[in-house]
Amino acid sequence: MNPRYVQDKAASAELLRLILQKMAAHPAAFNPPTYAVWYEFLAGINPQLTEAMNKLLADKGLLSTEIAQNFFDLYISEDNPQAQAAFRSNMQKLLDNLAKFAESTGSETDRFSAGLQKYGETLNQGVDAPSLKNLVGEIMQDTQSMRSSVESLQGKLHESKGEVEKLQQELQNARSEALVDPLTGVFNRRGFDAQMKKLLATPDLQGRRVCFMMLDIDFFKKVNDTYGHLFGDKVIRGIAAALTALVKGQDSVARMGGEEFAVILPDTPVKGAYALAEQIRLRIAGSKIRRSEKQDVVEGITISIGIADCEIGGDWNDALSRADEALYASKTQGRNRTTLYAVAK
Ligand code: GH3
Ligand code: MG
Ligand code: MG
Repeated sequence: MNPRYVQDKAASAELLRLILQKMAAHPAAFNPPTYAVWYEFLAGINPQLTEAMNKLLADKGLLSTEIAQNFFDLYISEDNPQAQAAFRSNMQKLLDNLAKFAESTGSETDRFSAGLQKYGETLNQGVDAPSLKNLVGEIMQDTQSMRSSVESLQGKLHESKGEVEKLQQELQNARSEALVDPLTGVFNRRGFDAQMKKLLATPDLQGRRVCFMMLDIDFFKKVNDTYGHLFGDKVIRGIAAALTALVKGQDSVARMGGEEFAVILPDTPVKGAYALAEQIRLRIAGSKIRRSEKQDVVEGITISIGIADCEIGGDWNDALSRADEALYASKTQGRNRTTLYAVAK
């Protein structure tokens, strides 16, 4: 929640009424940035924006779509994607409220109109008051025009809502793409860091241990040299798929770069991590990978693994280096093996 948006339902409903009046009187489109500009200005929560708006309005200026967007970019939007997401989710809530508001206004108008109609009928049935009837006719006309303005507002709100949803989806896609390795579909290095952040923020896991497994394909340069880079890519994808298939739900697999992977194993004892590593290692050593458009398969591709652990909340970068050291020991001791850091020392 953006700390600026502390207004409760009643306060924000009051703002909503003011904003609708302002929005109607200015040419800017009814879109989320315009709404945010009016919201922050009328709530008096953004001094820089207030100054800019006061200047604009003092010069008898009107808020156009371009100026609203410009003010939004300058004074409201933040580069931080999380802040943007928080803003958009708040906007979503506001627009939902707006839509509800507009809907209830619609049904109130209907009731109002029905009441007037009934009154008109009563008058028809015998009360001779032509001037009064005229008046009722006029009020009914007003009601009709009020209803069409509410309907057009509803239409605009729905458009804005769709726009916000689209923005949210795009933001979500951009964010998850940034965390995923396109070749394998597992996390990339940034995704790994994001998973660690999440882990550190999980209350149930505080004080528990986390195991790290570092994995590297053996003699991979030779695989590329012998069978080509495309086949090399296929091997990398196959290993990512095997890792994903063998780990449990709360574990995370990441490609840290080139032909190197890491697995995060929260709340897992080192012995358990070792058993899993051996299962992974043997599965890969025993697999056959078909070469595209050729009948032959390639066998004997192996990986080396290193394992280290630390307390969740401890220095996990240090634990990662220790897992790397253990991996290096696996390499120097002949490859196709798993080493625990304690043993590697
Ligand atoms: P070691 O057993 O010591 O790990 O030897 P290695 O040959 O696997 O290690 P080295 O670091 O010498 O070579 C890694 C190779 O991985 C070199 C690089 O061409 C290849 N590689 C890195 N990224 C990719 C990739 O995305 N696709 C393919 N096909 N190869 C890659
Ligand atoms: Mg290698
Ligand atoms: Mg390597």
